[in-house]
Order: sequence, then C-alpha cells, then structure tokens
Amino acid sequence: MSSTSTNAAHERPHPMDRRSLVDHARALDCIHCGLCLTTCPTYQLTGSETSSPRGRIHLMRAVAEGRAEPDATFEDEMNFCLVCRHCESVCPAGVEFGAMMEFSRGALLERKPPGLLARIARWVGFRGILVRRAGLRLAAVGLRSAQLLRLDVLAGPLLGLRGQIFRHLPRVPGARERRPLPPITPPEGAPRGTVLVLDGCVMPELFGRVNRAMTQVLAATGREVRSVPKHVCCGALHAHNGELDQAEALARTTIAQFNEVDDAAPVVIDSAGCGAHMKEYGRLLANDPEWRDRAATFSRRVVDLTEELAGPEGVERLRERLGDQHGIEGPVTWDDPCHLCHGQGVRDQPRQLLDLVPGLERVEMSGADSCCGSAGIYTVLRPEDSLDVLEPKLESLEQTGAATLVTANPGCHQQWQIGIGRSDKKVEVLHLAEVLERALRPR
Ligand code: SF4
Ligand code: SF4
Repeated sequence: MSSTSTNAAHERPHPMDRRSLVDHARALDCIHCGLCLTTCPTYQLTGSETSSPRGRIHLMRAVAEGRAEPDATFEDEMNFCLVCRHCESVCPAGVEFGAMMEFSRGALLERKPPGLLARIARWVGFRGILVRRAGLRLAAVGLRSAQLLRLDVLAGPLLGLRGQIFRHLPRVPGARERRPLPPITPPEGAPRGTVLVLDGCVMPELFGRVNRAMTQVLAATGREVRSVPKHVCCGALHAHNGELDQAEALARTTIAQFNEVDDAAPVVIDSAGCGAHMKEYGRLLANDPEWRDRAATFSRRVVDLTEELAGPEGVERLRERLGDQHGIEGPVTWDDPCHLCHGQGVRDQPRQLLDLVPGLERVEMSGADSCCGSAGIYTVLRPEDSLDVLEPKLESLEQTGAATLVTANPGCHQQWQIGIGRSDKKVEVLHLAEVLERALRPR
C-alpha cells in the first residue's frame, strides 16, 4: 500500500514514526502545477491554498519531513477533504490522492485517538452496525420507527442542521421491501453466463429496490445473476475513514465469500463507492503476501453495472427490451458519482445507457462531475460543509430544467434527496438501474 510501509506481512509502519504519518513517497510525486486547485470543492468554498489538494500535499510533506507538527489544523484539513478524487482526474503527475488520504487518516487515528464518545460512536458504527446484517436491520427498524412516529420532524429543531439532515434521510421502506436479493435469478432469453452482484450493507435496508432493479436488468440482458447471501460489507466506508485494519479484514472476507459462490464470474456493483474500493483490493492488500495476488485477481473481476451493461452484447439486448412506456418525467440529467468518474474513470457508459431509453430526453448538467458533498458519512460528520458543497450543484440542476436526476451511488442518491427536500424543487432522484428497469418491456 504505502512505499514507506514495511514489507513484512500486512504490517504497517509504527504510527508514532513521524515519517509514517503520511505517505511521504507519494507526496513527492506532486509537481506543484496547481491544475487541481479549481476542481477541488473545499478550495472552491474557502479560496485557501491549505484547503486545496496541493496545499494538503504540502502539509503532508512538511509533516513527513519534520518541518511541521500534525496539529489540529493538519487534522482538520485531512478531515475537510471529501476524498472525491476530482484532483486525481486532472493531475498530470498521477498523484494518488485518495490512497494518500486513507493512509493519513488511518495513521492519524492511531496516533491521536478521538475522544471517548467518538470512539464509542465509531466502534458502534464501523464494527457493530455496518458489518452485521442484524445490526443493519436493527438500525433500519429504529430509523423507520422514528420516521413513522414523525420523530424525524422534531429532530430539526432539537438537533439543528444534523437534525434537518436526519429529517431528509430516505424513507426506510417496510420489511417486505428490505428483503435480500434471491441467491439466483435466472437469465431471460439466450443465456450469456453468470455474474455475481453485491447486495451491500446499507443498500438492502434503504435502496433494496435499486438492487432488485439491477438484478432484473442484468437478467433481461441474458445474465444469470447470483448474490452472495453471507456477505455484508466491502469495507469502503472503513477505508475512507481511516479504519484500515478493519477495511483489510473486510476485503479478505469479501474475496473469500464471493469466490465461494463463483471464483471467475464478473462481480457487478451498483454502488460507485463500493465498486471503486473493491477495484483497489489489490492495493489495499499489497503488503499481505498470502492475499495480494488473490486480491489483485478479484479486483480485475469487479465492474460497475454501467460497464457491464454498456458492452456490445448488453446494449444489443437492451435495445430489444427497452420501451417508451416508462413514465419517467423528463428532461433527465445524469450526475457523475465521484467514485465512478474519478475513482473508476467511468463517464460515457451511463450517458450511453440513458440515451438507449426510447423517448427519454437527456440534458447535461454543468459540473456533473463535481462532488455533491455526500462523501460517505461526511454528511453526518460535517453537515454544513456537505450542504455548502451541494449548493452550486443545486443551482446547476435548476439550470438544466430536469425533472429527474439520475445517479448510481447510494450516498449521492441520499444527498440529492436531502438537498432537493430542503428546497422547493420537484425533482425525482433515481438510480440508473431503476430507470432501465422501468423502461423494460414485458417479455
Ligand atoms: S479529494 Fe476532492 S476534496 Fe480532497 S483534495 Fe482532492 S479534489 Fe479536494
Ligand atoms: S495537479 Fe497533481 S501535480 Fe499538480 S499540484 Fe495538483 S496534485 Fe500536484
């Protein structure tokens, strides 16, 4: 993972070693050209060099070289970053900013543990809820009960901005909607082989309909779709928030559980954040001699749903199946999830797929590839910054005149619902899989 890491097994350098606090070797890649500055949402908000990718790299180098202390300003700048990776897309030197940030956050956590309450919250969230199906179900039931009792409406006045966000969280659907994917969904028409799909951690509880739509659309293109019932979490949120040991453990579990079902089929993901992370398991486990090859092989099998569908055979099957009786309000606009366009380099396929739907008018939104401010749990940790980042995107959405906004990541889906819910706009937010499923003609 880091070139400053030791090579022994999956050991990382001791966190008290100043040089290991940041990935010094990667920081040296930056040539200070500044091309990344205007793409960075936190630089756009503050106009401050320190809050830009180049500024953060400068801070990282200063700490690594002993010229500065990893003080509160350093920590705040690391946490202010959304890890949207927009800076990576424009960087001529190939600086891997996302990996550097995960490494720095991990080392910061070890070196400077948060207070007791934050430690308990992190333990409950990352080790109690996210990794256990029972924990996720319990949390979903709790949130649904709060929504049914309208406690979410009270949360605004009681908890300020965090409460308002709570109020605009997606409605947790009823238990019938929160059922897991079937182990096998047979193909429709001539079979085209098997794919595995990720059900995910929060997806089945909040966006189970999206997973089912993905399954239906894949089956409609001739794929046998297999889920992995034992699996819960890929570890993306853990990695982004510096919980690296847990992220590595979850990567090993994910690989083992998927391989147990099928060790060669493509692994199709409808959540951009999870897909970007699973494509990097090879990097995450690079220092583990027992797992690194298996991890790299597994990562090569991971594809986003849009990559899978936009292949020639997928497109041909979709053309046969898509009709104009979808009832989707137009115009429709596509918002690139950061972890799809910057993290995976997938930009054209979603647009191409939307253009296949008969009668759908697609309009481009300016700044579609800028961050919406969701960034995993950033919405909860830094609600004001998160909404400030979304604000210009809401204006861009307004300018398109779109009645439907399409995305492909649960965090972005939720963030847009929060932003639109706080405004007087009437724009439906849909996952691309839902658009395609609605347009499928019955066979
Ligand atoms: S990852 Fe995003 S927020 Fe962080 S420095 Fe890069 S562009 Fe800025
Ligand atoms: S674009 Fe890359 S090389 Fe240029 S300043 Fe930003 S991070 Fe450094």
